[in-house]
Amino acid sequence: MDTSFPVLGFDIGGTKIAVCLGDSKGKILGAKRVVNKDRGPDEVIPELVSTGKELLSKAGLKGSDLRAIGIGSPAPMDIPNGLILCPTNMKKWTRVPIRDIMAESFGVKAYFDNDANAAALAEWIFGAGKGCHNMIYLTMSTGIGGGIIANGHLLHGKSWMAGENGHVVLDINGPKCNCGLNGCYEAFCGGVALANRMQRELAGQPGHPIVQAAGGKIEDIDVVALVKAVRAKDPYSLKLWDEMCMRNAQAIGIFLNTFNPEKIVLGTIALSTGDLFMKPLKEYLPRFCWPEMLNACDITVSGLGSHIGEYSGICVALNSLYEEGKWQMESLK
Ligand SMILES: [Zn+2]
Repeated sequence: MDTSFPVLGFDIGGTKIAVCLGDSKGKILGAKRVVNKDRGPDEVIPELVSTGKELLSKAGLKGSDLRAIGIGSPAPMDIPNGLILCPTNMKKWTRVPIRDIMAESFGVKAYFDNDANAAALAEWIFGAGKGCHNMIYLTMSTGIGGGIIANGHLLHGKSWMAGENGHVVLDINGPKCNCGLNGCYEAFCGGVALANRMQRELAGQPGHPIVQAAGGKIEDIDVVALVKAVRAKDPYSLKLWDEMCMRNAQAIGIFLNTFNPEKIVLGTIALSTGDLFMKPLKEYLPRFCWPEMLNACDITVSGLGSHIGEYSGICVALNSLYEEGKWQMESLK
């Protein structure tokens, strides 16, 4: 018996928003992106609604056919009340009741979670973490975000803040983090933190391989330029890369000893660089966790890759239905 049903998802980011119509078996029925860069909710929300309706109509469906809507958004946010508060790259989005607006626009219940949890749910339900009861997802791009699946459920914590894995302190004397603490995992390994460090340390060295890889502009140095210079075996880059892999192992070792997951799914840097990252990471790990935890865990890269945004929103909806006992996750049986 085909028991699949349609859900609509929104994966909100500072530059773009993925709108996706999918079903409970993971089939994508339609997807589109809406530009969000430098725009505000008054302009963007009507476009999100019309895009959602367009996807429904192209699939021969209407709002009342949807079982639920799921929305993933950057923090800070108020998850129980469905509010986007004022994310760093979305300054015009202040206390926006996105969940209720979407529920009203489509006439169906809407659910809301943070973007990293939404991505973790996507990997858990349809990606590399399928079938796991204990899994941690880590995304390492501009910042470091995470989501924790413990005993078959997404962990939210007392004040809905669980999964801020990027802000475990690895060295109290380490670099200042955007969050206010010193020496966070993100302050060592986040893309913005690494770029800032390289730009500072390489100022006045226009001939340096990283600067060259960034097109000769110090201000354009980023992790992509670093990876190019690492592949070209530049000594400064190799040293920085090794340190970055060691700090990742330190953080992941903490998560392994704390949660004893069967899978850790890594996005972004791990996905784009493969063995260049995974090999040193795995070599360092035994120094930061117990063999019992390490041997029980498969550390792997994202199964959904660049399509994760399409699944994130719909998986917020599916996970909420699962938690309410309205949907069975086939893979967990
Ligand atoms: Zn921090």
